[in-house]
Amino acid sequence: MDGVVTNTADAHFAAWKEVFDDLLRNVADGPSGFRPFTREDYIAHVDGVPRHEGIRRFLASRAIDLPVGDADDPSDATSRGLGKLKNDRFQYWLDRNAVPAFDDARALVAALRHCGMSIGVFSASRNARRVLDSAGVRNLFDTVVDGVDAGELGLSGKPDPAMLVETARRLDCAPDEVAVVEDALSGVEAGARGRFSLVVGINRQIAGARTQGHALRTYGADLVVRDLRQLLTDDGAGLRTLDRIPTVWDRQQDLEARIGGRRLAVFLDYDGTLTPIVEDFSKADICGEMVEAIGQLAARVPTAIVSGRDLSDVRGRVGLEQVFYAGSHGFDIAGPGDLHERPEQAGQFLSPIEAAGNDLEDAIRGIGGAQIERKTFSIAVHVRKVAETDFETVERAVDAVVGRQPKLRKSRGKKVFEIQPRAEWDKGNAVEWLLDNTRLGEGDALALYIGDDLTDEDAFAALSGRGIAIVVRGADRITTADYALDDAQDVRRFLGWLAARIAEPEE
Ligand SMILES: [Mg+2]
Repeated sequence: MDGVVTNTADAHFAAWKEVFDDLLRNVADGPSGFRPFTREDYIAHVDGVPRHEGIRRFLASRAIDLPVGDADDPSDATSRGLGKLKNDRFQYWLDRNAVPAFDDARALVAALRHCGMSIGVFSASRNARRVLDSAGVRNLFDTVVDGVDAGELGLSGKPDPAMLVETARRLDCAPDEVAVVEDALSGVEAGARGRFSLVVGINRQIAGARTQGHALRTYGADLVVRDLRQLLTDDGAGLRTLDRIPTVWDRQQDLEARIGGRRLAVFLDYDGTLTPIVEDFSKADICGEMVEAIGQLAARVPTAIVSGRDLSDVRGRVGLEQVFYAGSHGFDIAGPGDLHERPEQAGQFLSPIEAAGNDLEDAIRGIGGAQIERKTFSIAVHVRKVAETDFETVERAVDAVVGRQPKLRKSRGKKVFEIQPRAEWDKGNAVEWLLDNTRLGEGDALALYIGDDLTDEDAFAALSGRGIAIVVRGADRITTADYALDDAQDVRRFLGWLAARIAEPEE
């Protein structure tokens, strides 16, 4: 609820400020010694933390020592008393003000209702129903699970998925039929742990909020957006899915207008984009016509290939010297003129990856068809040949191995689970780095990215509002791309179309 649908952060801050400023005035050494409670204090010590823990942390930051005291005693002589005072102030605020709801959340909920989907809302707050009423949005939800329900049912708080699972149960759905939208790290982690079908992290760039886009991804979000309207079709009426967005051929004129006379920088994913997805990942060979099409494009505009494969693997398969390569989801970058770059943090993940790989080989042995691909900075567990009924067994094994390695995380792609560094670095960072540091970004280039999988959505997000994102269709899912292409063959045709529009540079 809060931070996704409703925005009570200002009301909470105001209530805390009244309570703490009274206390700080009392303990100050005269009026000149009074240092008020600030927005920075709120974010650093109190926001997103259980009430009494927040009080403890803030008082410690000002070296104020109070007894714990009695929960029912509203006074600033004890820490529990402060909590009671704060809750009273918040209730008082709720009596007199309307809680704002986020416009993008209203738009998303309206579209979901229009599509006939069930929608639940969950919150650890005991005031959740009052907050939803105050914002005038309670009737938009088919069910509410709040702090009172959690208390009665004995549901643990996030990152345990219990509250989310209960919400799904009340909607008569299994978690794998439900998408979760969360703004908190503990919330996306709960969605991932509960194995919900899609976990969307919302990273609103609003004043006073913590910026945590990459962190949302590393804690388990499949998709991170800045505005929930990115999940909707252009007319706002439905979910933005692979099958609903226009193809580049439907929108050729738009595309030509956007490119205009600008310099282009082209980024291409490998598997599923330049090659079809094949049963045996090691046989995903690129065809000669595709290499030729990339070569012709790269002769005209700087071109990069961004892949989850190892740098040497993808470079070996494509074999074009004039192209830039970013392997390992952007962890390992190379290009013409001896360019070689790894993010500073990369080295620390090598030994956890090695250990997880050994662990995983033991864990997966005996599950028919599961293939482990050990790479420099990640491990892919391919389930292309695994019976669908065994997917969950594989995922459990992956979860158990990742659970023993705090520096690693799991991500999900097309018929693949990946174990990756828990690093704030993804394909989006690789694209940004290449634009900032190589000729890909020269002359205010317009970046164009083509990819097919969830990891490519990080690059789409990085280009949001300043580039062109094209997704290659597969099993239908939500995307934030601008346009679609049907398959690798369609990609080849499009690369040819692009090259034909750009004059070959004179030697
Ligand atoms: Mg791909």
